[in-house]
Amino acid sequence: MQDDYRLTVDHIRKHLATNTGGVVSVEHVDESGDPVRFSYAEVDRRLHRLAHGLRALGVDEGDRVGTFTWNTLEHLELFIGVPTYGAVLHTVNVRLFEDQLVYVINHAEDRVIFVASDLVATLVPIADQLPHLRHVVVCGGLDGVDTGALPGVIGYDELLSTAPDDDFAFPELAESQAAALCFTSGTTGNPKGVLYSHRSIALHASSLLGVDSFALRRGDRVLAVVPMFHVNAWGLPYASVLIDADIVLPGRDLRPPAIAGIIERYRATVMGGVPTVYSDLLAYVDRAGTDLSSLRECFCGGSAVSETLMRAYEERHGVSIIQAWGMTETSPVCTVSRAPAGVTGEDVWQYRTTQGRAVPWVDLRLVGDDDEPVPHDGRSSGELEARGPWIAAAYYADESGDDRFHDGWLRTGDIATLSPDGFLRIVDRAKDVIKSGGEWISSVELENQLTAHPAVQAVAVIAVPDAKWEERPVACVVLRDGAVVTPEDLREHLLDRVAKWWVPDQFVFVSDIPRTGVGKLNKRALRASLAITDLVAEPAR
Ligand code: ADP
Repeated sequence: MQDDYRLTVDHIRKHLATNTGGVVSVEHVDESGDPVRFSYAEVDRRLHRLAHGLRALGVDEGDRVGTFTWNTLEHLELFIGVPTYGAVLHTVNVRLFEDQLVYVINHAEDRVIFVASDLVATLVPIADQLPHLRHVVVCGGLDGVDTGALPGVIGYDELLSTAPDDDFAFPELAESQAAALCFTSGTTGNPKGVLYSHRSIALHASSLLGVDSFALRRGDRVLAVVPMFHVNAWGLPYASVLIDADIVLPGRDLRPPAIAGIIERYRATVMGGVPTVYSDLLAYVDRAGTDLSSLRECFCGGSAVSETLMRAYEERHGVSIIQAWGMTETSPVCTVSRAPAGVTGEDVWQYRTTQGRAVPWVDLRLVGDDDEPVPHDGRSSGELEARGPWIAAAYYADESGDDRFHDGWLRTGDIATLSPDGFLRIVDRAKDVIKSGGEWISSVELENQLTAHPAVQAVAVIAVPDAKWEERPVACVVLRDGAVVTPEDLREHLLDRVAKWWVPDQFVFVSDIPRTGVGKLNKRALRASLAITDLVAEPAR
């Protein structure tokens, strides 16, 4: 066998020239305001210019090149162009707080950052705190953009237009070489970097094509709502180019009307996003009567997906929401939830409500408090551990998280069960699970059950300290417009569905629940905003 064939992003790049698909980037419009479709062959030509441009900026092999931008054509070009140049693509989360931003850019030692023109203002105030930064490349036009003290500013278009026209000699890369760097959200302590190799990106992208995985295929129009700064947009850009599917990039406006408009206009066949994207979109499309008939499947992960949400899409719009599980440390996709062939009707839900089965090459296991094995019997829960070719073995230049890796396995921090036939069910994140009277209450399960109440638009369940029980649950609920409901109604609703002692002691009605940079419910911010530690757990009974 040709065992020395290298699994690199360069293989993906080489598909561009002969691909018939292309990129629709909503941010790139023609004179009449219509988005331009760039064929992959055009993207290929632009990549040669980009690589010349990186050289002109003095980028060396192995240097980190930051991106601070939305899901756009330029970002897609950087996804492929930076790793194939031999540098490391560092996708910076545009919603980080200032001190985290300074931390990740300095920790990565980014030499160049590609930034969206409307995000330049976020970098300007920290310019003097970024000693490694040599150049800032502005995507989307420099007109009227105040770049303050940012060093070596140039526009992306200028970088490409002033680059030589001839082919760039892309280097031969080792597959173990670093290709991309992404930081975890840092809900505890500093964000931690995860370095993806060419090989891990290549294998992960290939795995998305499996029929029991995302089953992406030629001719698909893949709408990537999941931000490209979040775990490489789940690998969707790489997989799309690999099999010559169109990729549709929605830019900065991710509000439901914009997304609904894109689906209708470009007849997206597949979409990827976190659950809040789908629940917000559903509320809108139900009102607006959006045509979702082009969608074959929508992939959803990042937090638990409720059965109510999946059924609503299936029943009202004929669209399947397929749940997947993963994390920054796992590239991310490890499990995908599909019912086995032959299972039909109501029976499919017992599979589809799980986080799914491991895709090929991913091993999962459960361990107890002392690392003893926990049986895969579908009932016993333990910490989930994962192992495989696209799962991190360490954090990037940071030993503070070394305890997350042992015996070649990653400790995920998720509490889960595994059934004998391999279906994963996430019970909770270890840090969100509520410990009451020595037993565990799953905040995820309470949220799922409360979401099934017709008055509830969104809900987050968090723990409050309790003198007797150690912790008790409190539900923070956002009601649908015009809905009227009392804590007693919600309590009654839950009593039919969960153990009595699980029922939250308080229901707090809030106008909104803070979200993380990728749209997940941000329980840490919620706890802080409610000063929840001061809340007396006052029983509503
Ligand atoms: P963060 O949420 O800290 O930004 P990640 O995006 O890497 O970091 O999140 C990974 C975590 O998200 C997992 O450990 C798990 O707790 C949660 N998660 C991801 N997918 C699912 C899912 N389908 N169901 C439940 N939890 C999920």
